[in-house]
Amino acid sequence: MIRRIPLLVASIALIAGSVPAESHWFKGNTHTHSLWSDGNDFPEMIADWYLRHGYDFLAMSDHNLLARGDKWMTEEAIEKRKIVLGRKVLDKYRARFGAEWVETRTDPSGKLEVRLKPLEEYRRLLEKPGRFLLVEAEEISAGIGKVPIHINAVNVVEPITPIKDLTSIREVMRQNLQLVAAQAASAGKPMLAHINHPNFKWALTAEDLAHVIEDRYFEVFNGHPETFTLGDPARATSNTEKMWDVASTIRIAELKAPPLYGIASDDSHHYHGGRVTPGRGWVMVRAEKLDADTLVSAMQGGDFYCSSGVVLNEVRYDPSTRKLKLRIKAQRGVKYVTEFRGTLRGYDRAVKEVPADPKDASPVRLQYSDDVGKVLARTEATEPEFTLTGDELFVRAVVTSTNPHPNPAWEGQVEQAWTQPVGWE
Ligand SMILES: [Zn+2]
Ligand SMILES: [Zn+2]
Repeated sequence: MIRRIPLLVASIALIAGSVPAESHWFKGNTHTHSLWSDGNDFPEMIADWYLRHGYDFLAMSDHNLLARGDKWMTEEAIEKRKIVLGRKVLDKYRARFGAEWVETRTDPSGKLEVRLKPLEEYRRLLEKPGRFLLVEAEEISAGIGKVPIHINAVNVVEPITPIKDLTSIREVMRQNLQLVAAQAASAGKPMLAHINHPNFKWALTAEDLAHVIEDRYFEVFNGHPETFTLGDPARATSNTEKMWDVASTIRIAELKAPPLYGIASDDSHHYHGGRVTPGRGWVMVRAEKLDADTLVSAMQGGDFYCSSGVVLNEVRYDPSTRKLKLRIKAQRGVKYVTEFRGTLRGYDRAVKEVPADPKDASPVRLQYSDDVGKVLARTEATEPEFTLTGDELFVRAVVTSTNPHPNPAWEGQVEQAWTQPVGWE
């Protein structure tokens, strides 16, 4: 667990000219579910898992609510959420935090109920200044009919009621993103909204991600196996990395808008065995201090990368020399292949319409040429670097290791890291 490697902010070309201050890499997950919505453990237990596994921050992001107010659940309902039989959830909770912490009562029919603690109560138990932080968040779970359109709103101060069933997918995306932006403006606080799992129920296309320019972030990796990060060969442009490159290319070349930044998250629901478990994907944010506003501001500046296991000690892009440099924290016996991917000006813009599943929200999808998100260089160096010629719309790096993922979301998954697009500014 290597974190908080001191760096000089002055060395980050993106913030050239700022006063030198110490920066650190903070590891965090921005997408997590608890008993407050459809997860299967108490939020304290989940936060404790992340704390013990070396995370610096966690955003609990339950569906359409913030963990506030009074909420009780029967033990029976809690036990029903378990995927794998085993020790009782309430027993584990008591064993970890003590019988005094756990509040129970009996409902009129004689059933045992447990109180779900609001964030403001349980954060005192787990937060440690400079070491572990809980960030308030909500998964705005909107959609049109059966098409899910989910957006994580991070660092919010009020719950957001989703706007659903408008005339188009893009309008639902846009209006919900505008709710987060409006709240950020009125609260005077930085907030971040990321579009989640575009392939969950095959809801979103690369063009949706491109054209809703209010959006700046999307999940290039989501640990939930039903969100199909790798896409489906029968659905054109459904691999999330290809979607990312297509969306960024359309934005820069056609819409004169910034590219998307990628997010990796767990979207964990199961904490007692099961398939949707924590620890699969996260973000590493470079910031001066472990504070929600500071972290979100750093992410808004693009100063973060995504990981499913590969650790980068340095990611640096210097616009004056046009060099993108990475330093991989290499493990003995593990090989790392870094690909610098991007789209060049004058790329082949031809698209082909390809039928997908007729039941999909987009029964016909567009296939793009290999020029979009092309591999511009590939290296096995542990300090890979790429010098942009100025002909690129953007360049990003993806590092793929030979290390098998310890908790894979799909068979054969290996550890990776993804850096944000540069060179478009
Ligand atoms: Zn979701
Ligand atoms: Zn979720």
